[in-house]
Amino acid sequence: MSKKRLIVDMDGVLADVYQQFFKMDEEEFGVRKSLGEVNGKIEREAFKNERAYVFRKGFFREAPVMEDSIESVKLLNDKYDLFIVSAAMEFPHSLPEKLEWLKEYFPFLTWQQFVFCGSKTVIQGDIMIDDHYKNLDHFPGRTILFTQPHNYGHDDKQHERVFSWKEVLEKLI
Ligand SMILES: [Mg+2]
Repeated sequence: MSKKRLIVDMDGVLADVYQQFFKMDEEEFGVRKSLGEVNGKIEREAFKNERAYVFRKGFFREAPVMEDSIESVKLLNDKYDLFIVSAAMEFPHSLPEKLEWLKEYFPFLTWQQFVFCGSKTVIQGDIMIDDHYKNLDHFPGRTILFTQPHNYGHDDKQHERVFSWKEVLEKLI
């Protein structure tokens, strides 16, 4: 039997971009926001200059890796036909930075498993893990919503919500 195809997002799933938002916002305004202040708000409402940060060189390259994601992807990579799918057309530095980032943290994956795209509506597979409704809502297979502040508290009946990579493994291994 062929393996099921698993589609894994980067930002907000493998790459902890919120740590970058918190850090850059604090550097600019002198106060570190709390999680409670940003939960339930979209990024640009939570962080005044969010758009400037994602256009900044190093934003994607220097994002910390999400807790437990490396070990989890290693396990899932054995069981599934796994692809990392990331939108990387909008912000000029994001494509090369994301490729370098993946090579650093996920060296056990091959370049054939990296898919950088514009819209994810073209993506096909059996299971998708993503933090954005705009990607999951179009996906024809099973959909797992990775909790991030911007989707926190929003209705998620259509998708299976998880709060950590440990929970992803409980569902998929
Ligand atoms: Mg994402």
